[in-house]
Amino acid sequence: RRLTGAELREEFLRFFEKKGHTIVPSSSLVPHNDPTLLFTNAGMVQFKDVFLGLDQRPYKRATTAQKCVRAGGKHNDLETVGRTARHHTFFEMLGNFSFGDYFKREAITFAWEFLTGVLELPRERLWVTIYQDDDEAYNLWLELTDIPADRIVRMGEKDNFWAMGDTGPCGPCSEILIDRGEEFRCQAPECGIGKCDCDRWLELWNLVFMQYNRDAEGNLTPLPRPSIDTGMGLERVASVLQGVNSNFDTDLIRPLIEAVENLSGKSYHAGEEGFPFRVIADHARACTFLVADGVLPGNEGRGYVLRRILRRAVRFGKVLGIESAFLYKLVPVVVSILGGAYPEIEEKQEYIQKVIRLEEERFRETLHEGMKVVAEIIEKVKKEGRNEISGREAFVLYDTYGFPLDLAEDIAEENGLTVDREGFAEAMEEQRRRARAAREDAKAWQGAVSYAHLLGEVGPTEFVGYDRFESAAKVL
Ligand code: ATP
Ligand code: MG
Ligand code: MG
Ligand code: MG
Repeated sequence: RRLTGAELREEFLRFFEKKGHTIVPSSSLVPHNDPTLLFTNAGMVQFKDVFLGLDQRPYKRATTAQKCVRAGGKHNDLETVGRTARHHTFFEMLGNFSFGDYFKREAITFAWEFLTGVLELPRERLWVTIYQDDDEAYNLWLELTDIPADRIVRMGEKDNFWAMGDTGPCGPCSEILIDRGEEFRCQAPECGIGKCDCDRWLELWNLVFMQYNRDAEGNLTPLPRPSIDTGMGLERVASVLQGVNSNFDTDLIRPLIEAVENLSGKSYHAGEEGFPFRVIADHARACTFLVADGVLPGNEGRGYVLRRILRRAVRFGKVLGIESAFLYKLVPVVVSILGGAYPEIEEKQEYIQKVIRLEEERFRETLHEGMKVVAEIIEKVKKEGRNEISGREAFVLYDTYGFPLDLAEDIAEENGLTVDREGFAEAMEEQRRRARAAREDAKAWQGAVSYAHLLGEVGPTEFVGYDRFESAAKVL
């Protein structure tokens, strides 16, 4: 079936509503009350306490279309964006959840029915992975669906044991992938599930059999009741249904690429050349949604991730020859695509544009100079026969020109170079030490200054002991 992104989102929620699930709105990208997590990176995040038995809801089955960002922490796809056809910093995750209600049997049945029955995906191209020891899942797939045994693949912990973060609910999982066909085959000697990481084997849906809670020491304890958490990338399924080669060619993102074409006067091509277009389109979505959820560009934590994403988009704009602030102009395009599903971006559109424009203009003040300095550094590095930009050089770019490390790395990579990350971290630490020492000096100096001032005003005093001070304190 051919569906728009918006139709697909709707079909999914309605399907699970019919199966007794309550449609719950997406939660904020900033996790509520959870300092362990940078951003909401999956549909289950808003239900974490429900899985742990710490929170109760009036429903036992829920379904959501959840805003997610994977640009930091355990799940970080920032560097992958634009290189694969399937990764974004911001994306929507469709999910169905059971809180101690149904388990593997129903989760598998529902997923298969939705993909092959509702969406009519070609079943002969679907593959399933399971966690290596999960014979229960293996048998259920054979019993409940018509998938042949040779398209069920056993996988290890890295791929088939899901965890939100280093701590929290987790469990073995079973994933559904689609073979996009020979023409997507990669260069790896053995292109296949678990053998390479190319776009041919497109992972669509992850069914997590939530069974454990992992504590800070890494111990697994069983959850009060086994539960289900699933996540399916909306943009990926849309790409399959719309018969396009990449998420970036779906109706959810393509208009943004077209807007970048208009702003730059250049035309988009799939492949390496189109990389800056894809990055900008992706980052425009992330910036819009992060600002809408209250994140502001800053120097640490969430604010710094936003700043990095935003500045990266701006730099790629420059690569495309866009010479004035442009990123904020993409906000209305994001709103026109997603404002229906997420009214907050429509309501705050003006504010979002202001925040993005301000940060972009601020960065532009040093961007031009910074680019010249990078060019000089690169020339020097090459002349000296090095293949790495030193930590100190990258730090100057950071400290004086506001270039986050990954920006320097992007530029280095374009020139066949790398950046000494450790050296950068050391330079940063040294700077902190110096700043701290300077602060202490300043304090001591300020103290000395005010004492000298006092001395001049009242003249030397005679120490008369603590008794008078104490009695004065009593009066006060
Ligand atoms: P991949 O192996 O492709 O990186 P994943 O295993 O990291 O995906 P999960 O954590 O299982 O992804 O998330 C559930 C689903 O969310 C995935 O099956 C996929 O459809 C979607 N998804 C995950 N990461 C992204 C991303 N960065 N951009 C778009 N969709 C994503
Ligand atoms: Mg991933
Ligand atoms: Mg995966
Ligand atoms: Mg997965």
